[in-house]
Parts: sequence; structure tokens; C-alpha cells
Amino acid sequence: MEKKRKLSLPAWIFIGMLAGILIGLLFTKNPDFTTEWIKPIGMIYINLLKFLVVPVVLFSIADGVISLNDLKRVGSVGLKTFVYYMFTTAIAVVIGLVLVNIFKGAFPVLPSAELDTLEYEAKEAPSVMSVIVGIFPDNLFKPMVNADMLPVIVIAILTGAGVLAAGEKGQRIATIISDMNDVVMKIMMMIIKLTPIGVFCLMINVVAVNGASIVGTLAVVIGVAYLGYLTHVIIVYGLSVRFLAGMNPLKFFKGLAPAMICAFTTTSSNATLPLNIECCNKMGAEPEISSFVLPLGATINMDGTAIYQAVAAVFIACCYNINLTIGDMAMIVLTATLASIGTAGVSGAGMIMLAMVLTTIGIPVAGIAIIAGVDKIFDMGRTTLNITGDATCALFISRLERQKAAKAAAKAGK
Ligand code: ASP
Repeated sequence: MEKKRKLSLPAWIFIGMLAGILIGLLFTKNPDFTTEWIKPIGMIYINLLKFLVVPVVLFSIADGVISLNDLKRVGSVGLKTFVYYMFTTAIAVVIGLVLVNIFKGAFPVLPSAELDTLEYEAKEAPSVMSVIVGIFPDNLFKPMVNADMLPVIVIAILTGAGVLAAGEKGQRIATIISDMNDVVMKIMMMIIKLTPIGVFCLMINVVAVNGASIVGTLAVVIGVAYLGYLTHVIIVYGLSVRFLAGMNPLKFFKGLAPAMICAFTTTSSNATLPLNIECCNKMGAEPEISSFVLPLGATINMDGTAIYQAVAAVFIACCYNINLTIGDMAMIVLTATLASIGTAGVSGAGMIMLAMVLTTIGIPVAGIAIIAGVDKIFDMGRTTLNITGDATCALFISRLERQKAAKAAAKAGK
């Protein structure tokens, strides 16, 4: 009897995306319909993912810390992860700056009459120090209720550390946390099965709403950002996967494709986190490493956002006919790296944090209005990069830890 071949989930996700694009094109003249009727179905999927973010981060990081089994090891893995994240983000900003400076000639200088009409109600951009202070929770529940991920991560790390420090007495809690982690992962698998439908509905609306506005001047700046994304993926991630994680880059991108598509359509690193963990573990990441490195990355590591902020800052400066000095560029590298740490892994957050970059170098924040309409398109690419960077780190650190364990075992065997 002929065996029926079943399509895999990644294949269904891909089909969902393509079908969404095609149907979205049919609705470009009537985007209100898709916004009213189709987007909400996609929102159900996003809501379910969002609801899961706090428990996933909380239990997976706490469980990750506990499984590392030694506070010193937590510190060493944490430090390596942080250095890798900051280093790759700084490279991302530099790539963005180099490219945007090459293409800057194609950007328009907008007439001042047009600039005067711009209104972007900048939400108060947080200062660098307030971002740092905000990392530390003053209340156990508030950060969880607001899905404020940095303090949730601190709570999770401290919980894990407390359990380890309590030794024998912490064992019961360790078991509960590990069991809760398993339960949350199971719920996550159920929700992940809905990804093709979610992606399909969201894609229809994105194409219907933005389809027409892609053309025009903004196409150039969007193109530059995407060129930056692509350069970073190929050079930085390609090399990192090949030489640091010791893996074939093509295999890596194939394995990560479901998470990348999910990021592209949901524009949220947080929402993509469960799928990212799943893909990385399938590709051979150590579960205790990925459950620590990936939630941390979804919150603080945003290479795509950093590229976008560099490109957008220079673009807006050009529109205002402001010439940026080398000092300004250096400042962009610093602030965009910091801003990307403070950017929440949710849709559109990178644009809000762009205000911080603009303010620091004295570019009118109202300029954000020029690109706000197409932010979704920037966001799709930058979120995809953000989660890909996290995955490269999880595989790299997993390999380091495996090598360390092998060395220790060899030494013990001697
Ligand atoms: N949407 C991005 C993310 O979730 C953040 C951003 O807006 O840049 O990674």
C-alpha cells in the first residue's frame, strides 16, 4: 500500500506564508477588510504566544540555571553569552552604518514645509541609566503582569541561584520548577502547531496594508536595511555558525527556518522564543544552555534592531539635511547597541527605542513619522535577525560547554 507522505510543520509554515502573500496581494485595494476580519485570527495566535512568554522565560531560565548546577558555571556561561551578544550587536550597527553611508546619496532631503507637518508623538525615550535601573525588579509580580522581560529574567536567575544555594533543601523546588518547565513546553508545542494558520492570516494583512506603500522613496531605505540584514546573516552568522558552532551554515538555516518564518510574520522575538528553543534543541543545542541563552537573547540581543536603528537614524538625518560627523556615528554605535538591549522583544519596540538614538545625537524625533508607516516591513526583517543571532549563540555556547565537559572527563579518566 502506498504510504501517504505527510508534510512537516516547517513546510506548512512556509506554505502558510506564501499563500498569505498571494492572497494579501488580492486585497491591496481593500486592506480594511483584512484588518477587520483576517488580522484578528492572526492575533489569537499572537495572544496565545504572548501569554506563554512569561512562564517560558521564568521556568526555562530558572530551570536552565539549576541544571547548570553550579553558580560559577552560571556566571561563566552568562558572561560568555553577554560578550557574544554585545560584540555581534556592535558589528551589526557598524554594518548598518557603512551601508547607509554608501547609499545615502539616494535619500531625499525633504522640504521644510513637509517636515513641519510631521508629527510623531514620541513616547518618552528612556535614558540609559533608567534602562539599567529598570532591569532590577522592585516587586515580584509587576514585571510578570506587564511582561517586562528584563526584570523577569533577573527574577528567574535569582530563583535558580537561590535553589542552588539552598542545596539539599532546594531540591523540592528544583523538581517543581523542572516539572513546570516541562508542562509549559507541552503547552507551547500545542500552540506551535497553530503557526501555519497564524502566519497565513498575519501575512495576508501585512501585504494588503503595506503592499502599495513599499514603492516610492521608502523602498530605498527599506532596501538598505534589508541589505544590512542580509550582510549580517551571511557574514556574521555564517562565519559564527561555521567556525564557532562548528556546524554547516546551510543546515543551520534549514533547521532554523520555522522560527525565522515565525519571527518574520509575528515581528516578536518573545513570541518566537518557544519555536526558537525547539529548533535549536533539534539542531543539537544543549537544552540547559538554550533554555538560558535564548530567553536572555530574546530580550537583550537585537542585531536586526541595531542595524535598523543605524540605517533609520542616518536616513532621518538626511531628510532633515543634517550632516552627521564621525563622532555622531560613534555615538550611534554606542546608543544603538544600548537601545537594542533595552528594546523589548515585541512588535514595533525598536522604533520606540529609535527615539533614544535620535535624541542622543540631536536629530528631531518627529522624523520617525517619515518611516513609521512602513515600520512593519523593517520589523519583519529585524526580528528575523534578532532571533537568528540568539540561535547562533545557543549553538556556540553549547559547543563550548561540550568541549569543556569532554576535557574534564578526559582529565578525570587519566
Ligand atoms: N520586533 C523586534 C523583536 O521582537 C523588536 C523591534 O521592534 O526591533 O525582536
